[in-house]
Amino acid sequence: MKRLVIAIDGPAASGKSTTAKLLAQRLGLLPVDTGAMYRAVTLRVLELGLDPHDEARVTEVARRLNIRQEFRDGTVRTFVDGRDVSEEIRTPEVTRWVSLVSSYRGVREAMVAQQRAMAARGGVVLEGRDIGTVVLPDADLKVFMKASAEERARRRLRELQEKGIPATFEEVLADIQRRDRLDSSRALSPLKKAEDAIEIDTTHLTIHEQVERILEELRRRGLDP
Ligand code: C5P
Repeated sequence: MKRLVIAIDGPAASGKSTTAKLLAQRLGLLPVDTGAMYRAVTLRVLELGLDPHDEARVTEVARRLNIRQEFRDGTVRTFVDGRDVSEEIRTPEVTRWVSLVSSYRGVREAMVAQQRAMAARGGVVLEGRDIGTVVLPDADLKVFMKASAEERARRRLRELQEKGIPATFEEVLADIQRRDRLDSSRALSPLKKAEDAIEIDTTHLTIHEQVERILEELRRRGLDP
């Protein structure tokens, strides 16, 4: 039987990661967090003391990086050249620069190639901004998740607090709105719903309800394993 390929896209903190992880557990798929890959490039750029505006050097870093992900104990761990960077890629400094870094053509080409390689054997759920539109246009199911900016800021703030990263609601909201604007307006692979994606507004849904909607859709299409 063909192994499922699911694409989940949407803006920051719309519920993609949690949904992808739960779906992966329920269906025995491997979740791939593509935002974490752009964050890993950004982290290395900052660690190397490079200027994120320097497209040529940033692209060189992206091409050289070996990024790997593992799904362990219900979480996606991200490794860069063998080092676990799962926590470091979530800092406000990385978050601040990631939309610029991910707007560069060479960076996107390098990441998309790695993402397609990860998806090649199927049995995966990839989440990001351009999975249904660019990375995996032939995915078996495409989901576009959205939620109000305020609700997303509340969720992100809670996550940061749980990790002990200090932030205020206003800061988190401003950051989400800034990234929405940059990610949706960039020339290459902007955040947008694929024509054949199902849209789920998660503002008033629980995680369980979000996952149920997707499972229902898979059943409807005869795709549940
Ligand atoms: O999903 P997350 O918020 O961690 O993504 C971080 C950033 O990476 C996004 O704001 C966006 O700029 C970029 N990104 C992207 N394409 C993807 C996934 C993420 O450009 N497929």
